[in-house]
Amino acid sequence: MNRRLLRSEGTHGEAMTLRPLSPRRAAREAEARDWRHAFKIRIGRCEHCLKSKAPEYLDCDEIARGCHRSKALTAAFAMLCVCRLYHAIVQPWTRAKRLALLYLVRSTDYDLEAFWKLTSRRFPEQSEVDVEVEKLLNSRTQ
Ligand SMILES: [Zn+2]
Repeated sequence: MNRRLLRSEGTHGEAMTLRPLSPRRAAREAEARDWRHAFKIRIGRCEHCLKSKAPEYLDCDEIARGCHRSKALTAAFAMLCVCRLYHAIVQPWTRAKRLALLYLVRSTDYDLEAFWKLTSRRFPEQSEVDVEVEKLLNSRTQ
């Protein structure tokens, strides 16, 4: 939260902070938080370096980042579980490359059709993901 916002108070001393979340939105965020914690426990490792980690050392990387649907916060087919160190590396990857990693490490959750539906766009194509799968496989065997 923005500290300056907290300090600027109204004339009657009431803090002029951000508007509180609507009950529906707050419930949705709490639900997403619980889902993500359970997701980290289920995966139990970083999907990039493959090291086992406790949930507090794992991050959720949303492949559909920028897609504002709240469904994207709890979609296993649009999410990677990565450690802090590799989150920074994976974050700038293209959607195709991150979907390729998902396909390689957790093919049971890979669902490109569902991803297209979530983002309302037929992008990336399976062929683009295939190219990235090949590249990732090559980089791992070197
Ligand atoms: Zn890692």
